[in-house]
Amino acid sequence: MIDLNKEMDREGFVVGAPGLFEVADQGIESQFCASYTCGNYSHRGLTYGPFVEHHTQTFTAFAECPECGWADEL
Ligand SMILES: [Zn+2]
Repeated sequence: MIDLNKEMDREGFVVGAPGLFEVADQGIESQFCASYTCGNYSHRGLTYGPFVEHHTQTFTAFAECPECGWADEL
């Protein structure tokens, strides 16, 4: 099981989005995640996980399985 938050924290990322990131975009991605299927056990309905690295304003987002922790970068 992957601890996505811990993995990202090691690389300097925290949960969130840069200030300029459109909230509407996150809503759309969040909806996509809800229809995604987990790569491990085919669970349906993944959680949208946005991460930001504040020093470089680097943004990345994952679809994460709430049941087994499987995650895929969007
Ligand atoms: Zn899963």
